[in-house]
Amino acid sequence: MRFPTFPTIVRTFYTFSNYTARLPLQFKALQPVTRGTVLKSMPTIPFLSNLFSISAATRDMSYPVQKSDDEWRAVLSKEQFRILRQQGTEAPHIGKYDKHAPSTGVYTCAGCDAPLYTANQKFKSGCGWPAYFDNIPGAVTRHTDSTLGMERTEIVCSNCGGHLGHVFKGEGYQTPTDERHCVNSISMKFSPEDEGAAKSKDSKA
Ligand SMILES: [Zn+2]
Repeated sequence: MRFPTFPTIVRTFYTFSNYTARLPLQFKALQPVTRGTVLKSMPTIPFLSNLFSISAATRDMSYPVQKSDDEWRAVLSKEQFRILRQQGTEAPHIGKYDKHAPSTGVYTCAGCDAPLYTANQKFKSGCGWPAYFDNIPGAVTRHTDSTLGMERTEIVCSNCGGHLGHVFKGEGYQTPTDERHCVNSISMKFSPEDEGAAKSKDSKA
């Protein structure tokens, strides 16, 4: 029945804001674990990661854009091929779009130019890779990825099946979805035009 005393309110508020302020640090503290595992495992055993990959069913799924490995190699750089077509991961903090924060524009697939994310879906996560809380409807397909001894959700381009990264949920980011699409910069291109303009340009091409 008693109304909380003023010091109680102050203390509660202080605890709450302290907790909130600490959140990003906690996430940072978690990052090296994930990053270390990915970096250590991926480059040394690229064929192994393919072997245990995402499941054959995923790779056999038919996407509108179908190319053989040789055809992909002809249009992608070596690093783009490794990441988009062999489920690789680029090193953190070095990607072109990690700290990219335009107010408008569209991120498209580096393999097939399909629009994937809008600039206003991007947020600053501090994780070392571009982060988005949502994607353009239908542009991204999710698969369960059981490689590296853990279960993650892989995200690929719905148009060509190119590997984009992974999506993580419930980390406490103050975004509308509390999801983080952790995407390799090299899997994307950026167009400063808005989504509609990017689409009409695509249809002309
Ligand atoms: Zn694509």
